[in-house]
Amino acid sequence: MMQQYMKTKEEYKDCILFYRLGDFYEMFFDDAITASKELEITLTGKNCGLEERAPMCGVPYHAVDSYLNRLVSKGYKVAICEQVEDPATAKGIVKREVVRIATPGTNLDTQALDETKNNYLMCVAYIADRYGVSVADVTTGDYFVTEIEDSEKLFDEIYKFMPSELICNEAFYMSGMDFDDLRERLGITVYSLDAWYFDDEICTKTLEEHFHCATLEGLGLADYDCGIVAAGALFQYLKETQKNALTHMSRLIPYTNGKYMLLDSSTRRNLELCETMREKQKRGSLLWVLDKTKTAMGARTLRKYIEQPLLHKKEIDERLDAVEEFKNNAIAREEIREYLTPVYDLERLVSKITYQSANPRDLTAFESSLSMLPHVKTILSDMQSTLNRELYDALDPLEDLCTLVKKAIKDEPPLAMKEGGIIRDGYNAEVDKLRHAKSDGKEWLAKLEEDEREKTGIKNLKIKYNKVFGYYLEVTNSFKNLVPEYYTRKQTLANAERYIIPELKELEDTILGAEDKLYALEYQLYCEVRDTIAKEVVRIQTTAKAVAKIDTLASLALVAERNNYVRPKINEKGVIDIKDGRHPVVEKMIPNDMFITNDTYLNDKKKRISIITGPNMAGKSTYMRQTALIVLMAQIGSYVPASSANIGLVDRIFTRVGASDDLASGQSTFMVEMTEVANILRNATSKSLLILDEIGRGTSTFDGLSIAWAVIEHISNSKLLGAKTLFATHYHELTELEGKIDNVNNYCIAVKEKGDDIIFLRKIVSGGADKSYGIQVARLAGVPASVTDRAKEIVEELVQADITSRIKDIAVAGSESKHKAKKYDDVDLAQMSLFDTVKDDDVLQELKNLDVTNLTPIDALNTLYQLQNKL
Ligand code: ADP
Repeated sequence: MMQQYMKTKEEYKDCILFYRLGDFYEMFFDDAITASKELEITLTGKNCGLEERAPMCGVPYHAVDSYLNRLVSKGYKVAICEQVEDPATAKGIVKREVVRIATPGTNLDTQALDETKNNYLMCVAYIADRYGVSVADVTTGDYFVTEIEDSEKLFDEIYKFMPSELICNEAFYMSGMDFDDLRERLGITVYSLDAWYFDDEICTKTLEEHFHCATLEGLGLADYDCGIVAAGALFQYLKETQKNALTHMSRLIPYTNGKYMLLDSSTRRNLELCETMREKQKRGSLLWVLDKTKTAMGARTLRKYIEQPLLHKKEIDERLDAVEEFKNNAIAREEIREYLTPVYDLERLVSKITYQSANPRDLTAFESSLSMLPHVKTILSDMQSTLNRELYDALDPLEDLCTLVKKAIKDEPPLAMKEGGIIRDGYNAEVDKLRHAKSDGKEWLAKLEEDEREKTGIKNLKIKYNKVFGYYLEVTNSFKNLVPEYYTRKQTLANAERYIIPELKELEDTILGAEDKLYALEYQLYCEVRDTIAKEVVRIQTTAKAVAKIDTLASLALVAERNNYVRPKINEKGVIDIKDGRHPVVEKMIPNDMFITNDTYLNDKKKRISIITGPNMAGKSTYMRQTALIVLMAQIGSYVPASSANIGLVDRIFTRVGASDDLASGQSTFMVEMTEVANILRNATSKSLLILDEIGRGTSTFDGLSIAWAVIEHISNSKLLGAKTLFATHYHELTELEGKIDNVNNYCIAVKEKGDDIIFLRKIVSGGADKSYGIQVARLAGVPASVTDRAKEIVEELVQADITSRIKDIAVAGSESKHKAKKYDDVDLAQMSLFDTVKDDDVLQELKNLDVTNLTPIDALNTLYQLQNKL
């Protein structure tokens, strides 16, 4: 047996091998050591013909799923090796085979997965400076392919799908990508595969065979050279691990990057699209506000909509038309939603069915879900919008399959497939006959019991059953003397004896024989039903996708109605005009409609850049994010929180906000900030929307201000970039840019002074803020009065010492502004650092000017002394 084990293990070196031995899966050697640690199970040993005992541990077969999931979720691959012959009839060692390999990206256990999220496996083939990328979810049959030209966009793609496992070719593995970051920060398991997986010809052939087509052009893959390799390699990997025909992977969908808005990882995070930045939870994200879907399929689709906003007006308008129709027909919508409530996850159910792992209850869940579809279709038949008409056509009510299951399978069948009780009476004459034999058998037994009682006079004689002896007669000790001779004793208990008689044996044969036959027949019929359904996988998947979209659109309509959103107008002229906009999440977080609405107006001409000043806590970030979110919502086809909105399509949204969260990644805050700025300046276009919050904060005031200034100049210049931008800053100096640069405009968020305190009005108004109110905000935040009072004194001292005007001069000089100095009546304490920089700069300048070669040692010492004194 150990030889058999070793041979199998040799083939699955990179997996933990679960080796079936009777009622357990056993692990040996290093696998046992790893598994015992990870699963906290006892490590034992086994004599195996080697000098030392082999380390060994095991898990019971009936609980294997939970152990398997724990290992897989920690990134291990597990190969499951089963006994493939009946141990009772096998000669010699029972034959065993690996029947499946479970990996993070191919985990099938829907119990362990989040049903509102896809579980993706991604394959990257890096060939000749391009990336072929393919993504699949085996639990739903989703399967995509694309090509990407640079590593930054690839990273965005990884971030978009967030696969649990990434497989790739050697070239990609060696390309210098930060895999540790993927593994540790994003929890993605990464493996590189052998070269043959990525062989051009093998990949093409694999796909042609699976999709039964002569060439891949028919699948729309003509232009996807390295995409085909990625998709082919992924498919082979799935075949290897699943050992299954994968009929549910019925479509490979190519997509180009031009179809959806690209959102980089920091923008996804900053806008808190599907989870919050800090707690990483759904509550508090845009998805949380928008998700009122009824089905798991709908929830996954809505998430995809949010992660992939559209770029084309026609498509967006079509979605908006459909949402509007659902909004205006509240009764129809709510009826549909009611019918969708009991609908199970059809995509994952049909995958289970094709994997032959669906149990009888899965089939009844399938049937009860299908029985809702005709009602949904009827209601949908009155809808007029293009998309809803399309969905009506796509939705196949699958009545044939529903009827089949209803006729064949009992209402509440057991989970087990081989213990009968599955097939409905009347479906199959043979089943009915065998069942009769079984139930009649009960009557026969009762009659025999009665007869024997009479014959023997043993009043409490009973016929009982157990697995070891089958049926037997039980006589308590008090009646033992009445037992006749033809009773054969089988077993003696403390207070009773057990016997058999020939009639009872005969009955047993008939009854048990009927039972065995019945169970086998029921199992066979069950499999036939399951396989009939499996053949219709494409129809079911198409319908499931339609149901998912209906659910999503209805959810968007309901949210629009409940939250008082308006339908945005979509334009291609670059004008963003939002009246009374609200932040969709913040407005939900604060009580009693206290949210203060604000307008946004941006265009490609004079109103391209808004510089927004105002004290901390005034609402700058909220305002900027609300603008970004409203644009994004419009482009997914949702209504938006405003009284009116005209949205000029944007090709990308970029955000740059406080970097403190990135400290975990090991880079300095300023470095992260500048990397993000670099990314934005390089990748944004004149059609992008930029949200820049406090750029330059991570360095000294002098540098920071200059960088911020230069960034605005760059963005505003339409020859260089010319993107629409909201720019929040605490550098009041930047307000000088209005009037100097054509398309820059100042706004600030109004506050009202009340004695020593301030009141936030949260209203955005034209013009720059002239105070930072740092001390007032500190007081509001609960900084002790002794500190804030002292801070006030320091400010006054600084003002008296006329420091402010020096800072001002330098700042203006630094930005090469010829502007007259504006009067400053307070100072940001952070700006103290400016002085240090200035002094250092003087000293540096002197050092630079020194002619060292003509300096005597004494002169050098003197100069050094003077310089030191200046510091
Ligand atoms: P800033 O970026 O100026 O420091 P934030 O945008 O973070 O300020 O806003 C601070 C807090 O003020 C938010 O958490 C929110 O509770 C509240 N707030 C912001 N904008 C509004 C608004 N328009 N109406 C009501 N409350 C708001």
